[in-house]
Amino acid sequence: MWQMSVERTEYYLHSEKGKRAVNTRLDWQHWCESISGATTVTGVVAWPVRHSLSPSMHNAAFAALGLNWAYVPFPVPPEQLGTAVAAFSAMGIRGVNVTIPHKSAVAGFLDALDPAAEILGAVNTIDVCEGRLTGYNTDGPGFVASMHEVGWSAVGRAVAIIGAGGSSRAVAHALLMAGASRLAVVNRTPEKAEAMVQMLTEIAVPEHGSVDIVGSGLDAPSARDLVTEADIIVDCTSVGMYPQVDVPPVVSPEWLHDGQLVADLTYNPRLTVLLQAAQTRGCATLEGTGMLVHQGAIAFEIWTGRKAPVETMRKALLAQLR
Ligand code: NAP
Repeated sequence: MWQMSVERTEYYLHSEKGKRAVNTRLDWQHWCESISGATTVTGVVAWPVRHSLSPSMHNAAFAALGLNWAYVPFPVPPEQLGTAVAAFSAMGIRGVNVTIPHKSAVAGFLDALDPAAEILGAVNTIDVCEGRLTGYNTDGPGFVASMHEVGWSAVGRAVAIIGAGGSSRAVAHALLMAGASRLAVVNRTPEKAEAMVQMLTEIAVPEHGSVDIVGSGLDAPSARDLVTEADIIVDCTSVGMYPQVDVPPVVSPEWLHDGQLVADLTYNPRLTVLLQAAQTRGCATLEGTGMLVHQGAIAFEIWTGRKAPVETMRKALLAQLR
């Protein structure tokens, strides 16, 4: 049972579990009034889903635009994924985000995939429209948008991607589409770096000019040169993610220098051990919250057809990461 109190114009919800801040009067009104028979439902499908930051980000965006929409968590175990997806249309659900562990498996249950989702074999957003389910991957475009926000473009740039997992592929694909001229995949397991290079080479777009795509093990001598010679370095590993925040950065700080942009997809903590080292070395840095906000903003625009209130979404996200 929740009760409301107001302290110095701040709104709080109280229960036996403690006190939780409600950001603004608008949020509070949204909580009380917005769920009705006419509410359009969206959400996030994951397993587990309890720690997702997306509900507050999207609900703040709906409230800011005065939309009678809601975003809720759907905890779906892997063996129930097909059943859950099949129910979206029947339940009137307008769209969902999809995250760990379902991003690859869900592609097989959809009617259509956008080109990025098709190439990557991974979906993070589903649009449900007139009974038809279309899968998108907004992770890579979200990263590129966050890079643009800090004044960096991929055009003609040499990029080093650290990692060869799902997010690495999405970011590498988007950076190639955005015009990177050289792309190095540096990964702890060299065989996975090579497999990713092969996949990226097959999809490289000739109209963007010739692209040099190479791979390396993280411990191989070539890794140092690939990172040092890159303009943009993107850490797509989970090294430095909470609670393991006091580990050494995934690449040696000595490989970094001014004139480079160093990005980390990990967003908790916001200033990872790699970003701290990069700042000490004079690099520009980009934290993972930018990608998280923008992948969500693109999904919001797919579902609503409205321009996403990016700053509102960022504020809601950062409030949870404090
Ligand atoms: P993933 O598919 O499991 O890939 C993990 C990658 O990290 C693999 O290449 C793995 O190397 C490497 N790795 C793991 N531990 C390592 C270590 N100790 N030293 C060196 N390399 C290591 O994971 P993912 O889905 O790509 O996610 C990676 C990170 O990105 C996570 O922290 C996730 O939270 C974050 N992420 C952020 C956003 C955002 O919006 N900001 C979106 C997606 C993901 P091996 O191949 O050798 O195992």
